[in-house]
Amino acid sequence: MEAITQLQANLTQHFAKLVKQDHLAHAYLLTGPSGTGKKELAVWISQAIYCRQKDEQGYPCQTCIECRRISENSHPDVVRIAPEGQSIKVDQIRFLKSEFSKSGLESLRKIFIIEDAEKMTTGAANSLLKFLEEPSGLVNAFLLSESPQLILPTIISRCQTVELAALSTKQIVKELVDAQVTPGKASLLAHLCGDYEQALALSQDQKFEKLVENLWEWYNLTLRGDLRAFVDVQVKLMPYLENKAEQERLLQVLVLLIRDTMLTYYQRQDELAFKMYLPQLQDIAAHIGGPRIVKALEISLKSWQKLAVNVNFQNILEELTLNLSECFGR
Ligand SMILES: [Zn+2]
Repeated sequence: MEAITQLQANLTQHFAKLVKQDHLAHAYLLTGPSGTGKKELAVWISQAIYCRQKDEQGYPCQTCIECRRISENSHPDVVRIAPEGQSIKVDQIRFLKSEFSKSGLESLRKIFIIEDAEKMTTGAANSLLKFLEEPSGLVNAFLLSESPQLILPTIISRCQTVELAALSTKQIVKELVDAQVTPGKASLLAHLCGDYEQALALSQDQKFEKLVENLWEWYNLTLRGDLRAFVDVQVKLMPYLENKAEQERLLQVLVLLIRDTMLTYYQRQDELAFKMYLPQLQDIAAHIGGPRIVKALEISLKSWQKLAVNVNFQNILEELTLNLSECFGR
């Protein structure tokens, strides 16, 4: 993962300042989609508090004993809690409280970080609430959540909410490439998912990879008005689609493919999802021309509406094949 000081540059700068001025709030709720660095930010702020050799900006060094113990989760004054199984149980919060009652283990200040805070059981949430209401000594809390709407409003009202911005497509591509996904695949997945974790999971799905290859073949047949495109629907697309989510994703990939055809036509190659097909897309775009690409995009978006009203998916794809071949053939 990219360093948090780059991933969330504004927030790290902001929090370093707060720590420096000793203006940190008692409790924060850090929200944002997966991959935005909620945990990394909470850990980094903890380091900014304890680090022994901060720089002028107040950024932690990452190498001193305090920084290392915090990142390795072995610092006695920084306690992290995560779900055990499906939930965060009341015993975990009780443990936290007992840890905190042993005051001044290393320093006066203590920090706790609760991951997936929405997974607290009601008992755990109530126990935490009491703790948040009666802070004993210098305590800073960081609650992390992708689904803050599932957290008790009484807890939220005790916290200052900080929303971490979703990653840009470019950032997701970079993260995926860092995780050993090939650049071509990373680009498609980042455009398709808009969420790092989801994109990473899909990058390991071989069935999906094959489906994308097959869709590309089908697209090329359709462009030429080749009737084998109808056979492809039956043997190369339908068998890979088990549920509505997968069907929807296929249409999404198709829309991306046509969008890329259009971007290529307008010489905006930098924004392509299908970077790996650039030379072929250039041929295609030059051959069909702008107006027909726009029409094709309209046709594929219409299929999406049909899926929403539960028309049989094979019918949708066959109609799509027919309409697109006509559109490209004309
Ligand atoms: Zn340090």
